[in-house]
Amino acid sequence: MSYVVKTVPGLARTGLNLAPTFKRLNARLGSSIAATGPQRDNERPKQPRERASRPRRGGAGPADTSVDFEQTQEAYKSKDSLELLRSVLVLKLCSYGILVDKNKEIMDLGKKVLGQWAFEQLMKMTFYGQFVAGEDHRAIRPLLQKNQAFGVGSVLDYSVEEDISPEENQEDQLQEGDHEVNTPFGERRRGFAEAGSYLYADEAKCDQSVEPFLECIKASGGGALEGFSAIKMTALGRPQFLLRLSEVLVKWRRFFSFLAAQQGNSNKETMEQKLELKVLQEFLTRLGAKGDFHGWFTDTMQNSSGTIDVLDWDSLIDNRADTSHLLSVPDVGIGELVPLLGHFTAEEEKQMKRILQRMDALAKHAEENGVRLMVDAEQTYLQPAISYLTLEMQRVYNRQKPLILNTYQCYLKGAYANLSVDVERSRRQGWCFGAKLVRGAYMHQERERAGLMGYEDPINPDYEATNRMYHRCLDLLLEEISLSRKANVMVASHNEDTVRHTLRRMNELGLAPAERKVSFGQLLGMCDQISFPLGQAGFPVYKYVPYGPVDKVMPYLSRRAQENRGFMKGAERERQLLLKELKRRLASGEIFHRPVF
Ligand SMILES: Cc1cc2nc3c(=O)[nH]c(=O)nc-3n(C[C@H](O)[C@H](O)[C@H](O)COP(=O)(O)OP(=O)(O)OC[C@H]3O[C@@H](n4cnc5c(N)ncnc54)[C@H](O)[C@@H]3O)c2cc1C
Repeated sequence: MSYVVKTVPGLARTGLNLAPTFKRLNARLGSSIAATGPQRDNERPKQPRERASRPRRGGAGPADTSVDFEQTQEAYKSKDSLELLRSVLVLKLCSYGILVDKNKEIMDLGKKVLGQWAFEQLMKMTFYGQFVAGEDHRAIRPLLQKNQAFGVGSVLDYSVEEDISPEENQEDQLQEGDHEVNTPFGERRRGFAEAGSYLYADEAKCDQSVEPFLECIKASGGGALEGFSAIKMTALGRPQFLLRLSEVLVKWRRFFSFLAAQQGNSNKETMEQKLELKVLQEFLTRLGAKGDFHGWFTDTMQNSSGTIDVLDWDSLIDNRADTSHLLSVPDVGIGELVPLLGHFTAEEEKQMKRILQRMDALAKHAEENGVRLMVDAEQTYLQPAISYLTLEMQRVYNRQKPLILNTYQCYLKGAYANLSVDVERSRRQGWCFGAKLVRGAYMHQERERAGLMGYEDPINPDYEATNRMYHRCLDLLLEEISLSRKANVMVASHNEDTVRHTLRRMNELGLAPAERKVSFGQLLGMCDQISFPLGQAGFPVYKYVPYGPVDKVMPYLSRRAQENRGFMKGAERERQLLLKELKRRLASGEIFHRPVF
């Protein structure tokens, strides 16, 4: 097959002309920077040896919507009774708010009283053992193989979360900006530390953090089921840079919304908002704006309707060496013309290039190992940049199949707008859309920050609104898949109603599980009653599998416990199902059940 070197024009957006970077990168890495390897799309994974009582529908048939999430014998077949007991105990402990809120203090005390070794053993028998697969990619293999034998694949998530000292933290203060995305770095980092995300130390550290991701990708490959690796963009570069880039992207989009409102478009969906170019240019002239806006779209407008939409608007910041020259608008506060977008420093340009090089190395490695990448979504003040960089990598690597999946958080008010714009972007640019759909993990932190800094809460007003948003986004993606068969979605949720909704819609749209366009994801140690019946019924389903040394993974677990506080409280149903199965095993003499695979 022929290998094609792909260029990434959009990476040069927002003041960063990265075409030369990519050319250099291309030269350095050889001509296969974005070479597409042999496709595995049509390869069917081996079927799990254990079969569910329900027959798997294959081929072009519709989805089997009757997966039974109450059937505990099937759901827990892969677990011995001790594991079930541990689940009951750990989930019960996680339901106590005080233990979740004070988990760090309790763990510190535990270490002091028991000593490091005994504390680690205790964790392995309980929380770590429940939610983490093992210390390294070798240790996790038996668990991966077992889950796979029962129809459940893995998304490997190397979950070591670094921290830095307060001294290092102080050295790295960000100056205060004029936009809500741009905040004092100390404050942002404080929020960061609370969320337990990757903390930036220096570029060398980021280079080092690529290594475990490369290993993780390698460990994800070679199984019967297609492998996935999770990537955290904040591990790959300086969050300050992601913050700056997010600021530029948000500002540019907001100006489009402002212009759309001027032309009476404010009640329309984002993709439906069209600006009359002539009216726009007249408006900007009246506004006293400066920039080459009379020259915008002169090439592309000849055969079009004379209107531009948000994707055309976004394209204006492609390939711009210096966005500060793009458009200057009057600032009523100071009565002067100011550039709508500031420019990036040479150092920031370098940081951008480095993130992209690291992402590129990971994507290339993933392609070679037949593994797909999932880029996790993080906080709203970083997410526009994370999503943007991911989209650019998707444009390069998703030509034949959705190798890279972006993540969309449906607790955000803007989730549907972002998703629909990106789906349209993939259609126009001709790549395969791939998304992981989640509700979102940073709700408390986001709300606290918005309250503290006095900007609008980006999160939907209540849980029901988030549910509606999730199902709306999901419906959009399922319809996209049914139309083009190019897109993929992972329904990453523990919510049974959402899973049932997906199965129903798949059935209505004629999307067969065997096509593997729609997959499901749950976290390891949670909701086996959803994952295993789905897997055994032939649906592609994956556990998010964290791994890493005990002392390094505990901060991650602590964060997750905090994030999932509400959910853990509601794990009552899961505990009831676990107890039901334990009782059944006792009554039927199967208490010493050993999973066979
Ligand atoms: C495989 C997998 C991958 C994940 N990856 C990511 C990721 O990359 N980024 C990320 O942010 N999260 C990620 N998550 C976590 C996810 O966002 C949710 O926090 C978690 O799954 C709980 O949501 P649910 O749909 O499973 O359950 P549910 O219990 O149905 O939903 C709980 C969620 O609803 C939302 N919610 C709750 N109360 C309210 C309220 N009052 N107002 C508005 N919304 C509310 C919150 O998002 C909360 O987490 C992932 C989860 C899974 C299973």
